[in-house]
Amino acid sequence: MAKNDKLSAVKGMNDILPGESERWQWLEAQVRALMDGFAYRNVRTPIVEHTQLFVRGIGEVTDIVEKEMYSFEDKLNGERLTLRPEGTASLVRATVEHNLLYDGGKRMWYMGPMFRHERPQRGRYRQFHQIGAEALGFAGPDVDAELILLAVALWKRLGLTQWRLEINSLGQSEERAAHRAALIAYLEQHQDVMDEEAKRRLYSNPLRVLDTKNPAMQEMVNGAPRLLDYLGAASLAHFDGLKAILDANGVPWTVNPRLVRGLDYYNLTVFEFVTDLLGAQGTICAGGRYDGLIEQIGGKSAPAVGWALGVERVLELVKELGTEIAQAPLDAYAIVPDAAAMPQVLQTLTVLREAGLRVQMHAATEQGMGSMKSQFKKADASGARHALIFGGDELARGEVTVKALRDGSGAQCERRLAEVAQWAPTLQSNA
Ligand code: ATP
Ligand code: MG
Repeated sequence: MAKNDKLSAVKGMNDILPGESERWQWLEAQVRALMDGFAYRNVRTPIVEHTQLFVRGIGEVTDIVEKEMYSFEDKLNGERLTLRPEGTASLVRATVEHNLLYDGGKRMWYMGPMFRHERPQRGRYRQFHQIGAEALGFAGPDVDAELILLAVALWKRLGLTQWRLEINSLGQSEERAAHRAALIAYLEQHQDVMDEEAKRRLYSNPLRVLDTKNPAMQEMVNGAPRLLDYLGAASLAHFDGLKAILDANGVPWTVNPRLVRGLDYYNLTVFEFVTDLLGAQGTICAGGRYDGLIEQIGGKSAPAVGWALGVERVLELVKELGTEIAQAPLDAYAIVPDAAAMPQVLQTLTVLREAGLRVQMHAATEQGMGSMKSQFKKADASGARHALIFGGDELARGEVTVKALRDGSGAQCERRLAEVAQWAPTLQSNA
Protein backbone atom coordinates (compact mmCIF):
# COMPACT_ATOMS: atom_id res chain seq x y z
CA MET A 1 0.00 0.00 0.00
CA ALA A 2 1.37 3.41 -0.95
CA LYS A 3 2.16 5.79 1.87
CA ASN A 4 -0.85 8.08 1.66
CA ASP A 5 -3.49 5.61 0.51
CA LYS A 6 -6.65 5.70 2.54
CA LEU A 7 -6.87 2.82 5.00
CA SER A 8 -10.17 1.11 5.59
CA ALA A 9 -11.50 -1.19 8.29
CA VAL A 10 -11.04 -4.93 7.88
CA LYS A 11 -13.82 -6.53 5.83
CA GLY A 12 -16.74 -7.61 7.98
CA MET A 13 -15.63 -5.41 10.88
CA ASN A 14 -17.61 -2.24 11.49
CA ASP A 15 -17.11 1.16 13.01
CA ILE A 16 -19.92 2.21 15.30
CA LEU A 17 -20.18 5.96 14.92
CA PRO A 18 -22.09 8.79 16.61
CA GLY A 19 -25.68 8.54 15.41
CA GLU A 20 -25.46 4.77 15.80
CA SER A 21 -23.50 4.50 19.06
CA GLU A 22 -26.35 6.19 20.99
CA ARG A 23 -28.47 3.15 20.19
CA TRP A 24 -25.72 0.83 21.43
CA GLN A 25 -25.36 2.77 24.67
CA TRP A 26 -29.10 2.75 25.17
CA LEU A 27 -29.20 -1.02 24.71
CA GLU A 28 -26.25 -1.50 27.04
CA ALA A 29 -27.89 0.66 29.71
CA GLN A 30 -31.08 -1.43 29.48
CA VAL A 31 -29.05 -4.61 29.78
CA ARG A 32 -27.09 -3.34 32.79
CA ALA A 33 -30.23 -2.35 34.65
CA LEU A 34 -31.94 -5.62 33.85
CA MET A 35 -29.01 -7.86 34.81
CA ASP A 36 -28.81 -5.96 38.05
CA GLY A 37 -32.48 -6.61 38.68
CA PHE A 38 -32.00 -10.33 38.10
CA ALA A 39 -28.84 -10.38 40.28
CA TYR A 40 -26.52 -11.38 37.43
CA ARG A 41 -23.00 -10.00 37.88
CA ASN A 42 -20.71 -8.71 35.18
CA VAL A 43 -17.57 -10.57 34.06
CA ARG A 44 -14.92 -9.30 31.65
CA THR A 45 -12.54 -11.82 30.17
CA PRO A 46 -9.70 -11.28 27.68
CA ILE A 47 -10.52 -11.15 23.98
CA VAL A 48 -7.62 -13.51 23.21
CA GLU A 49 -7.53 -17.04 24.63
CA HIS A 50 -5.51 -20.20 24.05
CA THR A 51 -6.86 -21.86 20.89
CA GLN A 52 -7.23 -25.09 22.81
CA LEU A 53 -9.96 -23.57 25.01
CA PHE A 54 -12.30 -23.27 22.04
CA VAL A 55 -11.30 -26.53 20.41
CA ARG A 56 -12.09 -28.34 23.66
CA GLY A 57 -15.03 -26.19 24.65
CA ILE A 58 -16.93 -25.69 21.41
CA GLY A 59 -16.03 -29.01 19.76
CA GLU A 60 -13.70 -29.93 16.95
CA VAL A 61 -16.38 -30.72 14.37
CA THR A 62 -18.28 -27.44 14.48
CA ASP A 63 -18.48 -24.56 11.99
CA ILE A 64 -16.73 -22.29 14.43
CA VAL A 65 -13.70 -24.47 15.14
CA GLU A 66 -13.44 -25.96 11.66
CA LYS A 67 -13.43 -22.76 9.67
CA GLU A 68 -14.42 -19.58 11.50
CA MET A 69 -11.74 -18.92 14.10
CA TYR A 70 -9.12 -16.19 13.90
CA SER A 71 -6.18 -18.17 15.20
CA PHE A 72 -2.54 -17.19 15.11
CA GLU A 73 0.77 -17.93 16.65
CA ASP A 74 2.17 -15.49 19.17
CA LYS A 75 5.45 -14.68 17.44
CA LEU A 76 7.19 -14.01 20.72
CA ASN A 77 6.59 -17.33 22.43
CA GLY A 78 4.99 -19.63 19.86
CA GLU A 79 1.67 -19.98 21.74
CA ARG A 80 -1.42 -20.83 19.66
CA LEU A 81 -3.97 -18.10 20.34
CA THR A 82 -7.47 -17.29 19.09
CA LEU A 83 -9.64 -14.17 19.05
CA ARG A 84 -12.67 -15.37 20.97
CA PRO A 85 -15.52 -16.52 18.71
CA GLU A 86 -18.00 -16.64 21.61
CA GLY A 87 -18.10 -15.92 25.33
CA THR A 88 -19.19 -19.05 27.15
CA ALA A 89 -15.90 -20.96 26.94
CA SER A 90 -14.01 -17.97 28.34
CA LEU A 91 -16.51 -17.44 31.14
CA VAL A 92 -16.30 -21.09 32.11
CA ARG A 93 -12.50 -20.98 31.98
CA ALA A 94 -12.51 -17.96 34.28
CA THR A 95 -14.99 -19.66 36.62
CA VAL A 96 -12.78 -22.73 36.88
CA GLU A 97 -9.52 -20.78 37.07
CA HIS A 98 -10.77 -18.63 39.94
CA ASN A 99 -12.82 -21.37 41.59
CA LEU A 100 -15.92 -19.18 41.53
CA LEU A 101 -18.30 -22.05 42.35
CA TYR A 102 -16.61 -22.88 45.66
CA ASP A 103 -19.55 -21.53 47.66
CA GLY A 104 -22.38 -22.37 45.32
CA GLY A 105 -23.92 -21.35 42.00
CA LYS A 106 -23.16 -18.07 40.27
CA ARG A 107 -25.12 -15.93 37.85
CA MET A 108 -22.99 -13.85 35.49
CA TRP A 109 -23.16 -11.83 32.29
CA TYR A 110 -20.75 -10.37 29.76
CA MET A 111 -20.72 -8.25 26.68
CA GLY A 112 -18.18 -7.52 24.00
CA PRO A 113 -16.83 -8.21 20.55
CA MET A 114 -16.56 -11.74 19.13
CA PHE A 115 -14.70 -12.80 15.98
CA ARG A 116 -15.68 -15.33 13.35
CA HIS A 117 -14.36 -15.57 9.82
CA GLU A 118 -17.72 -15.81 8.05
CA ARG A 119 -19.02 -14.42 4.79
CA PRO A 120 -20.13 -10.88 5.72
CA GLN A 121 -23.79 -10.10 4.99
CA ARG A 122 -26.73 -8.49 6.75
CA GLY A 123 -26.67 -9.66 10.38
CA ARG A 124 -23.43 -11.59 9.90
CA TYR A 125 -20.08 -9.93 10.48
CA ARG A 126 -16.52 -10.95 11.26
CA GLN A 127 -16.36 -8.81 14.33
CA PHE A 128 -19.74 -8.78 15.98
CA HIS A 129 -20.95 -8.28 19.52
CA GLN A 130 -22.66 -10.54 21.96
CA ILE A 131 -24.27 -10.02 25.31
CA GLY A 132 -24.48 -13.24 27.26
CA ALA A 133 -26.05 -14.39 30.52
CA GLU A 134 -24.97 -17.59 32.23
CA ALA A 135 -26.06 -19.38 35.41
CA LEU A 136 -23.47 -21.88 36.64
CA GLY A 137 -24.04 -24.49 39.31
CA PHE A 138 -27.83 -24.80 39.02
CA ALA A 139 -29.43 -27.96 37.67
CA GLY A 140 -33.19 -27.40 37.50
CA PRO A 141 -35.41 -26.09 34.71
CA ASP A 142 -36.25 -23.12 36.96
CA VAL A 143 -32.95 -21.46 36.01
CA ASP A 144 -33.46 -22.27 32.33
CA ALA A 145 -36.80 -20.50 32.68
CA GLU A 146 -35.24 -17.58 34.59
CA LEU A 147 -32.80 -17.01 31.74
CA ILE A 148 -35.56 -17.11 29.15
CA LEU A 149 -37.65 -14.69 31.24
CA LEU A 150 -34.60 -12.43 31.47
CA ALA A 151 -34.41 -12.31 27.67
CA VAL A 152 -38.16 -11.72 27.41
CA ALA A 153 -37.86 -8.86 29.91
CA LEU A 154 -35.13 -7.36 27.77
CA TRP A 155 -37.27 -7.56 24.62
CA LYS A 156 -40.00 -5.79 26.56
CA ARG A 157 -37.66 -2.98 27.64
CA LEU A 158 -36.39 -2.61 24.09
CA GLY A 159 -39.91 -2.52 22.68
CA LEU A 160 -39.22 -5.68 20.66
CA THR A 161 -42.21 -7.57 19.41
CA GLN A 162 -42.41 -10.06 16.54
CA TRP A 163 -40.12 -12.68 18.01
CA ARG A 164 -40.89 -16.29 18.69
CA LEU A 165 -39.26 -18.69 21.10
CA GLU A 166 -38.27 -22.13 19.84
CA ILE A 167 -37.25 -24.73 22.38
CA ASN A 168 -35.98 -28.29 22.25
CA SER A 169 -34.30 -30.81 24.49
CA LEU A 170 -31.08 -32.56 23.54
CA GLY A 171 -31.40 -34.98 26.45
CA GLN A 172 -28.31 -36.61 27.94
CA SER A 173 -25.38 -38.27 26.20
CA GLU A 174 -26.76 -41.85 26.53
CA GLU A 175 -29.99 -40.70 24.92
CA ARG A 176 -28.09 -38.94 22.17
CA ALA A 177 -26.03 -42.11 21.63
CA ALA A 178 -29.16 -44.20 21.04
CA HIS A 179 -30.58 -41.57 18.72
CA ARG A 180 -27.23 -41.22 16.95
CA ALA A 181 -27.26 -44.84 15.79
CA ALA A 182 -30.75 -44.43 14.32
CA LEU A 183 -29.81 -41.09 12.79
CA ILE A 184 -26.67 -42.45 11.12
CA ALA A 185 -28.66 -45.36 9.68
CA TYR A 186 -31.21 -42.87 8.30
CA LEU A 187 -28.58 -40.52 6.89
CA GLU A 188 -26.75 -43.41 5.23
CA GLN A 189 -29.96 -44.07 3.29
CA HIS A 190 -30.13 -40.45 2.09
CA GLN A 191 -26.58 -39.66 1.04
CA ASP A 192 -27.81 -38.71 -2.43
CA VAL A 193 -29.26 -35.43 -1.12
CA MET A 194 -26.48 -34.69 1.37
CA ASP A 195 -23.92 -31.98 0.67
CA GLU A 196 -20.18 -32.48 1.24
CA GLU A 197 -20.24 -30.98 4.70
CA ALA A 198 -23.08 -33.25 5.80
CA LYS A 199 -21.30 -36.32 4.42
CA ARG A 200 -18.18 -35.37 6.29
CA ARG A 201 -20.16 -35.09 9.51
CA LEU A 202 -22.18 -38.24 8.99
CA TYR A 203 -20.04 -40.23 11.42
CA SER A 204 -18.15 -37.52 13.28
CA ASN A 205 -21.12 -35.37 14.29
CA PRO A 206 -24.40 -36.50 12.70
CA LEU A 207 -26.57 -34.37 14.98
CA ARG A 208 -24.96 -31.32 13.41
CA VAL A 209 -26.26 -32.44 10.00
CA LEU A 210 -29.75 -31.57 11.31
CA ASP A 211 -28.51 -27.98 11.82
CA THR A 212 -27.86 -27.53 8.09
CA LYS A 213 -29.01 -24.35 6.40
CA ASN A 214 -28.98 -26.04 2.96
CA PRO A 215 -32.55 -25.79 1.59
CA ALA A 216 -31.99 -28.86 -0.59
CA MET A 217 -31.59 -30.94 2.56
CA GLN A 218 -34.56 -29.63 4.54
CA GLU A 219 -37.02 -32.30 3.48
CA MET A 220 -34.58 -35.09 4.26
CA VAL A 221 -33.75 -33.50 7.62
CA ASN A 222 -37.45 -33.13 8.44
CA GLY A 223 -37.94 -36.87 8.05
CA ALA A 224 -34.97 -37.82 10.24
CA PRO A 225 -35.44 -39.66 13.56
CA ARG A 226 -36.23 -37.12 16.28
CA LEU A 227 -33.98 -36.94 19.30
CA LEU A 228 -37.07 -36.03 21.36
CA ASP A 229 -38.39 -39.57 20.80
CA TYR A 230 -35.29 -41.01 22.47
CA LEU A 231 -35.49 -39.02 25.68
CA GLY A 232 -35.97 -40.85 28.99
CA ALA A 233 -38.26 -39.85 31.86
CA ALA A 234 -35.79 -37.55 33.62
CA SER A 235 -34.99 -35.53 30.50
CA LEU A 236 -38.68 -35.24 29.63
CA ALA A 237 -39.50 -34.13 33.17
CA HIS A 238 -36.85 -31.41 32.92
CA PHE A 239 -38.30 -30.25 29.60
CA ASP A 240 -41.86 -30.32 30.98
CA GLY A 241 -40.71 -28.35 34.01
CA LEU A 242 -39.43 -25.60 31.74
CA LYS A 243 -42.60 -25.53 29.67
CA ALA A 244 -44.78 -25.29 32.79
CA ILE A 245 -42.89 -22.24 34.07
CA LEU A 246 -43.00 -20.55 30.66
CA ASP A 247 -46.74 -21.22 30.46
CA ALA A 248 -47.35 -19.86 33.95
CA ASN A 249 -45.53 -16.68 32.90
CA GLY A 250 -47.36 -16.26 29.62
CA VAL A 251 -44.26 -16.82 27.48
CA PRO A 252 -45.31 -18.49 24.22
CA TRP A 253 -43.02 -21.24 22.89
CA THR A 254 -42.96 -23.86 20.18
CA VAL A 255 -40.95 -27.06 20.16
CA ASN A 256 -38.59 -27.28 17.20
CA PRO A 257 -37.34 -30.88 17.22
CA ARG A 258 -34.53 -30.00 14.80
CA LEU A 259 -33.07 -27.26 16.95
CA VAL A 260 -29.61 -28.56 17.86
CA ARG A 261 -27.43 -25.41 18.00
CA GLY A 262 -24.03 -24.93 16.42
CA LEU A 263 -21.86 -25.71 19.41
CA ASP A 264 -21.13 -29.13 20.85
CA TYR A 265 -21.48 -28.45 24.52
CA TYR A 266 -25.26 -28.39 24.89
CA ASN A 267 -27.52 -30.94 26.63
CA LEU A 268 -31.17 -30.90 27.78
CA THR A 269 -32.71 -27.48 27.10
CA VAL A 270 -31.76 -25.55 23.96
CA PHE A 271 -33.63 -22.50 22.71
CA GLU A 272 -33.56 -19.71 20.18
CA PHE A 273 -35.41 -16.42 19.87
CA VAL A 274 -36.15 -15.96 16.19
CA THR A 275 -37.69 -13.15 14.16
CA ASP A 276 -38.95 -13.11 10.58
CA LEU A 277 -38.05 -9.45 10.09
CA LEU A 278 -34.31 -9.87 9.53
CA GLY A 279 -34.18 -12.23 6.58
CA ALA A 280 -31.90 -15.26 6.75
CA GLN A 281 -30.13 -14.09 9.93
CA GLY A 282 -33.27 -14.29 12.05
CA THR A 283 -31.88 -15.73 15.29
CA ILE A 284 -31.39 -12.85 17.71
CA CYS A 285 -30.58 -14.88 20.83
CA ALA A 286 -29.65 -18.50 21.40
CA GLY A 287 -28.68 -20.68 24.30
CA GLY A 288 -29.18 -23.77 26.32
CA ARG A 289 -27.86 -26.03 29.02
CA TYR A 290 -24.24 -27.19 28.99
CA ASP A 291 -23.87 -29.42 32.03
CA GLY A 292 -20.70 -31.11 30.70
CA LEU A 293 -18.64 -28.08 29.76
CA ILE A 294 -17.23 -27.08 33.14
CA GLU A 295 -15.71 -30.53 33.63
CA GLN A 296 -14.47 -30.57 30.04
CA ILE A 297 -12.58 -27.35 30.69
CA GLY A 298 -10.96 -28.88 33.75
CA GLY A 299 -13.32 -27.91 36.55
CA LYS A 300 -15.29 -30.00 39.00
CA SER A 301 -18.45 -31.17 37.23
CA ALA A 302 -21.30 -28.69 37.66
CA PRO A 303 -24.43 -27.93 35.66
CA ALA A 304 -24.80 -24.69 33.74
CA VAL A 305 -27.11 -22.87 31.35
CA GLY A 306 -26.93 -19.63 29.41
CA TRP A 307 -27.66 -17.64 26.30
CA ALA A 308 -25.99 -15.11 24.04
CA LEU A 309 -27.69 -12.47 21.96
CA GLY A 310 -26.31 -10.85 18.84
CA VAL A 311 -26.21 -7.10 19.50
CA GLU A 312 -26.14 -6.12 15.80
CA ARG A 313 -29.19 -8.27 15.07
CA VAL A 314 -31.13 -7.05 18.10
CA LEU A 315 -30.41 -3.42 17.16
CA GLU A 316 -31.38 -4.12 13.57
CA LEU A 317 -34.71 -5.41 14.85
CA VAL A 318 -35.11 -2.33 17.07
CA LYS A 319 -34.61 -0.23 13.93
CA GLU A 320 -36.88 -2.41 11.82
CA LEU A 321 -39.67 -1.89 14.36
CA GLY A 322 -39.11 1.88 14.27
CA THR A 323 -38.44 2.20 18.00
CA GLU A 324 -37.41 5.75 18.89
CA ILE A 325 -34.48 6.18 21.24
CA ALA A 326 -35.16 9.22 23.41
CA GLN A 327 -32.09 11.46 23.36
CA ALA A 328 -32.23 14.41 25.75
CA PRO A 329 -31.16 17.68 24.08
CA LEU A 330 -28.08 19.57 25.25
CA ASP A 331 -28.86 22.10 27.98
CA ALA A 332 -26.64 24.81 26.58
CA TYR A 333 -24.22 25.86 23.85
CA ALA A 334 -21.53 28.38 24.78
CA ILE A 335 -21.08 31.18 22.22
CA VAL A 336 -17.70 32.88 22.54
CA PRO A 337 -17.18 35.91 20.23
CA ASP A 338 -13.56 36.43 21.32
CA ALA A 339 -11.19 33.55 22.13
CA ALA A 340 -9.58 35.72 24.82
CA ALA A 341 -12.60 34.94 27.02
CA MET A 342 -11.92 31.20 26.95
CA PRO A 343 -10.31 30.81 30.40
CA GLN A 344 -13.36 32.36 32.02
CA VAL A 345 -15.77 30.47 29.74
CA LEU A 346 -14.27 27.12 30.67
CA GLN A 347 -14.42 27.95 34.37
CA THR A 348 -18.11 28.72 34.04
CA LEU A 349 -18.83 25.58 32.03
CA THR A 350 -17.08 23.47 34.65
CA VAL A 351 -19.50 24.72 37.28
CA LEU A 352 -22.48 24.07 34.98
CA ARG A 353 -21.29 20.54 34.22
CA GLU A 354 -20.68 19.82 37.89
CA ALA A 355 -24.28 20.82 38.41
CA GLY A 356 -25.23 18.04 35.98
CA LEU A 357 -25.80 20.11 32.85
CA ARG A 358 -24.87 18.96 29.37
CA VAL A 359 -23.02 21.78 27.70
CA GLN A 360 -21.14 22.16 24.42
CA MET A 361 -18.48 24.80 23.97
CA HIS A 362 -17.88 26.61 20.71
CA ALA A 363 -14.26 25.99 19.72
CA ALA A 364 -11.99 27.63 17.19
CA THR A 365 -11.26 26.05 13.82
CA GLU A 366 -8.25 26.93 11.67
CA GLN A 367 -10.22 30.01 10.63
CA GLY A 368 -10.65 31.20 14.20
CA MET A 369 -13.79 31.45 16.34
CA GLY A 370 -16.12 32.46 13.47
CA SER A 371 -18.76 35.18 13.39
CA MET A 372 -21.58 35.44 15.94
CA LYS A 373 -23.94 34.40 13.15
CA SER A 374 -22.04 31.23 12.38
CA GLN A 375 -21.75 30.45 16.10
CA PHE A 376 -25.51 30.82 16.51
CA LYS A 377 -25.99 28.46 13.57
CA LYS A 378 -23.85 25.88 15.30
CA ALA A 379 -25.78 26.42 18.53
CA ASP A 380 -29.01 25.78 16.67
CA ALA A 381 -27.67 22.68 14.95
CA SER A 382 -26.47 21.27 18.27
CA GLY A 383 -30.07 21.06 19.45
CA ALA A 384 -29.18 22.86 22.67
CA ARG A 385 -32.04 24.44 24.60
CA HIS A 386 -30.07 27.58 25.51
CA ALA A 387 -27.27 29.67 24.15
CA LEU A 388 -24.84 31.19 26.64
CA ILE A 389 -23.31 34.28 25.09
CA PHE A 390 -19.97 35.19 26.59
CA GLY A 391 -19.73 38.64 24.91
CA GLY A 392 -17.03 41.15 25.90
CA ASP A 393 -19.54 43.70 27.34
CA GLU A 394 -21.28 41.10 29.45
CA LEU A 395 -18.01 39.67 30.74
CA ALA A 396 -16.83 43.15 31.68
CA ARG A 397 -19.97 43.45 33.86
CA GLY A 398 -19.30 39.97 35.32
CA GLU A 399 -22.28 38.53 33.45
CA VAL A 400 -23.28 36.15 30.67
CA THR A 401 -26.36 36.32 28.45
CA VAL A 402 -28.68 33.30 28.51
CA LYS A 403 -30.92 32.98 25.47
CA ALA A 404 -33.70 30.44 25.05
CA LEU A 405 -33.34 28.64 21.69
CA ARG A 406 -36.13 26.11 21.66
CA ASP A 407 -39.25 27.42 23.39
CA GLY A 408 -40.08 29.91 20.61
CA SER A 409 -39.82 32.88 22.97
CA GLY A 410 -36.24 33.80 22.15
CA ALA A 411 -36.26 35.24 25.67
CA GLN A 412 -32.91 36.33 27.00
CA CYS A 413 -31.57 37.54 30.31
CA GLU A 414 -28.31 38.36 32.01
CA ARG A 415 -26.88 36.14 34.73
CA ARG A 416 -24.11 36.83 37.23
CA LEU A 417 -21.01 34.71 36.56
CA ALA A 418 -20.26 34.68 40.27
CA GLU A 419 -23.60 32.95 40.89
CA VAL A 420 -23.49 30.18 38.27
CA ALA A 421 -24.16 27.40 40.74
CA GLN A 422 -27.40 29.14 41.81
CA TRP A 423 -28.91 29.66 38.35
CA ALA A 424 -27.53 26.48 36.72
CA PRO A 425 -30.62 24.40 37.58
CA THR A 426 -32.88 26.79 35.62
CA LEU A 427 -31.18 25.63 32.40
CA GLN A 428 -31.82 21.96 33.00
CA SER A 429 -34.29 20.04 30.83
CA ASN A 430 -36.40 19.02 33.79
CA ALA A 431 -36.38 22.52 35.35
P1 ATP B 1 -25.99 -18.55 13.11
O1 ATP B 1 -26.81 -19.77 12.99
O2 ATP B 1 -26.70 -17.31 12.72
O3 ATP B 1 -24.64 -18.70 12.46
P2 ATP B 1 -24.83 -19.32 15.59
O4 ATP B 1 -25.58 -20.53 15.99
O5 ATP B 1 -23.49 -19.48 14.97
O6 ATP B 1 -25.72 -18.37 14.66
P3 ATP B 1 -24.34 -18.53 18.32
O7 ATP B 1 -22.95 -19.04 18.35
O8 ATP B 1 -25.38 -19.26 19.05
O9 ATP B 1 -24.77 -18.30 16.80
O10 ATP B 1 -24.33 -17.00 18.78
C1 ATP B 1 -25.44 -16.40 19.44
C2 ATP B 1 -25.96 -15.23 18.64
O11 ATP B 1 -24.93 -14.39 18.19
C3 ATP B 1 -26.68 -15.62 17.37
O12 ATP B 1 -27.98 -16.01 17.62
C4 ATP B 1 -26.63 -14.33 16.58
O13 ATP B 1 -27.63 -13.45 17.01
C5 ATP B 1 -25.28 -13.79 16.95
N1 ATP B 1 -24.27 -14.10 15.93
C6 ATP B 1 -23.62 -15.26 15.71
N2 ATP B 1 -22.74 -15.15 14.71
C7 ATP B 1 -22.82 -13.87 14.27
C8 ATP B 1 -22.15 -13.11 13.26
N3 ATP B 1 -21.19 -13.63 12.51
N4 ATP B 1 -22.50 -11.81 13.09
C9 ATP B 1 -23.46 -11.24 13.85
N5 ATP B 1 -24.12 -11.90 14.82
C10 ATP B 1 -23.80 -13.19 15.04
MG1 MG C 1 -22.80 -19.45 12.97
